[in-house]
Formats: sequence, C-alpha cells, structure tokens
Amino acid sequence: MIRFSLACDRGHDFEAWFRNNEDFDTQQKRGFVECPQCGSSKVSKALMAPAVSTSRRQAKIALAMGEAQKQAMAELKALTQKMRENAENVGDKFAEEARKIHFGEVEARGIYGEATPEEAKSLAEDGVSFMPIPVFPDDRN
Ligand SMILES: [Zn+2]
Repeated sequence: MIRFSLACDRGHDFEAWFRNNEDFDTQQKRGFVECPQCGSSKVSKALMAPAVSTSRRQAKIALAMGEAQKQAMAELKALTQKMRENAENVGDKFAEEARKIHFGEVEARGIYGEATPEEAKSLAEDGVSFMPIPVFPDDRN
C-alpha cells in the first residue's frame, strides 16, 4: 500500500491509500477518487512534501546519535583507563600470563595485553576469566 498526498481542483488537500501507482491511475481515470471535502473527482497527486520532512528528521536523529556516541565513547575511554590502572601491561604475552595466573603458577594480579582471537578462544575453553577491552587509536603504546 502506498499513501498519496492528493489535491482536488478546488485546492483541498487530502491523503488516500492505494495498492500502487497503477491502482491510483485506474481509479482516478474512472472517477473513483473523490475529494472528501467537496466530492470533486478532479483529483491529482500533490507534491510529496512529507518525504522531504522525513529525510530532515532522519538527519537530525543521526546528528543526535553522533553526540550520544561521542559521550559514550568518552565514558568508555575513562572506564578502560580505570581498568588499566594498577594492572600490568603484558603486551602480546597476555594469553600466556593469564593462563599462568589462572593455574596459580604466578601471583594473581591484574594484567592486560593483546591476544589473538585463537588465544582468546583457547583461554575461554580453559575457563580463564578475562574480558575484551576496547583499544582506541590514540592509546596504543
Ligand atoms: Zn475538494
């Protein structure tokens, strides 16, 4: 179903639903489409103004989400920083160190570092508790 904005020859605006464009054309030619205000069957499609305001509304929503995401990103960054405080950066030895801690081979402590997807999968299978933290473009060292 398509909603058309229509106008009669006396300038009344109204809306009506049709199956498709063809359906409207057929009904209009037969005089089945009547203005609800004056009953005129001299009806034509009005300019599709609603489509314009819809895209404007979407642009506004995208803008609002951009601001919200910026805010969330800042919070996430602060949270990530907090997680790293007092934790040891073990770099690419994360999987090795996490496993040692898990099996009590070394003193338990907070660590962070990088792991490949395979290492992460293997750690999870061993029951090692860890969680991925986001890496921001400007905080790699
Ligand atoms: Zn009318």
